[in-house]
Amino acid sequence: MPVPIPLHTIDILRKTRDGVVLDAREIGFLVNGAANGSIPLEQLSAWLMAAWLRGLSLNEIHALTLAMRDSGEKFSPARLGKVAVDKHSTGGVGDKTSFLVAPIAAACGLAVPMISGRALGHSGGTLDKLEAIPGYRTALSLQEFEAVLARCGASIVGQTPALVPADRVLYALRDRTATIESPGLICASILSKKLAAGLNALVLDVKTGSGAFLRKMEDTEYLASLMVTTAEAAGTRTVALLTDMSQPLGHAAGNWIELVEAVELLRGKRPAESEDLRELSLILAGWMIALGGKAETAEMGYARAEAAIADGSALKVFFAMIEAQGGDISVFDLSAAFHKPGATQVLNAWESGFIYAMDTTQLGWAVQRTGAGREKAGEPVDPHAGIDFHARRGARVVKGQPLATLYATSPALLAEPEEILHQAIVLSPAPPQVVPLVSRIFTRATAEAHLSATSNS
Ligand code: URA
Repeated sequence: MPVPIPLHTIDILRKTRDGVVLDAREIGFLVNGAANGSIPLEQLSAWLMAAWLRGLSLNEIHALTLAMRDSGEKFSPARLGKVAVDKHSTGGVGDKTSFLVAPIAAACGLAVPMISGRALGHSGGTLDKLEAIPGYRTALSLQEFEAVLARCGASIVGQTPALVPADRVLYALRDRTATIESPGLICASILSKKLAAGLNALVLDVKTGSGAFLRKMEDTEYLASLMVTTAEAAGTRTVALLTDMSQPLGHAAGNWIELVEAVELLRGKRPAESEDLRELSLILAGWMIALGGKAETAEMGYARAEAAIADGSALKVFFAMIEAQGGDISVFDLSAAFHKPGATQVLNAWESGFIYAMDTTQLGWAVQRTGAGREKAGEPVDPHAGIDFHARRGARVVKGQPLATLYATSPALLAEPEEILHQAIVLSPAPPQVVPLVSRIFTRATAEAHLSATSNS
């Protein structure tokens, strides 16, 4: 039996740079080095860039996903005595569906052990948003995670040095090294967290359009089928919905202001500018409820989800979860008094016309640059910064009508985001084509068929 030759990071970097496929041992070496700090950040960054530029084979992506899942402790929902389900999105602007679907599914009798992330590139981060609530803790031990789930049915936490530590390191590095938009890296990042949570079923919200990380439809479809087949092969029943991100979801994009919008919907209100957010949340929750066995079909799940909002049970779960994780829910009744950005500015329409297009990635960068996002890993974000969008794509606006309200700690921080908005929003005399909220659904069968028809590895 030959003795395996020791691995060296530099050899692995050279291989990926040159397009040579890594084996599972080499991938495991890299992932362990990321998790335990034995590989320096500059080498991890170089590997990420090589992987981004060269792409990863299916075998590499599967090995990366499993190695990242196994890089720390794993959660087992078995003792909760409930089916464990979750939803994860590939990232977007104003995407706060987690704050609706997690408590809705829990109110319908499922467990939702949700491991989430911080802001990534132009896309907001669930953890940063939740930390806008005074006291809310996103870093829980596995015992605390289980205790919150047992008490409330849902818990939203982040990666820690113990839980998916490899994703914690690689996620923050990708954010800083322009290596986010890679199907393989996105798949491994998302599924490592979801599989480490021991889920029975998973609903993936794969974004399409100008605010998605992958903008070409063929890349989005590849990502969706890649994630569905990888998660299914690891034993988690999974569907992926391709959903529209050609404009921010709902009206608020930032940290605290997104929570306010979500809680308004959980309280049963239906502001017109949140209707897409409500609809998508109900569709996603409907799938979670159906996959979790609490409804026969996703449509019946949708009806159960609506009922969980109408009877207040979802809101009750959300507030119970916040309190169980140390958060102060009284701020939701103080909303206007609690939301005190240092500076506010309104951007008005510069001409009359239809809102024809939005470069939603750029809108996301504008939100990040109000201070809602960070420049360096580990930096705090401004909980009160962000942008409220007042007009939807396709709306007719008149010159001088408010298009957006920007919030930051100081007026100096508002000039850049305002200019970005000006350049990213296209006003036109003609209305745009209507885009469906959900354009396609991948199940295991359709994902496998898609992958075998398009795969070259
Ligand atoms: N969400 C994640 O957790 N990871 C990604 O890479 C993208 C979205």
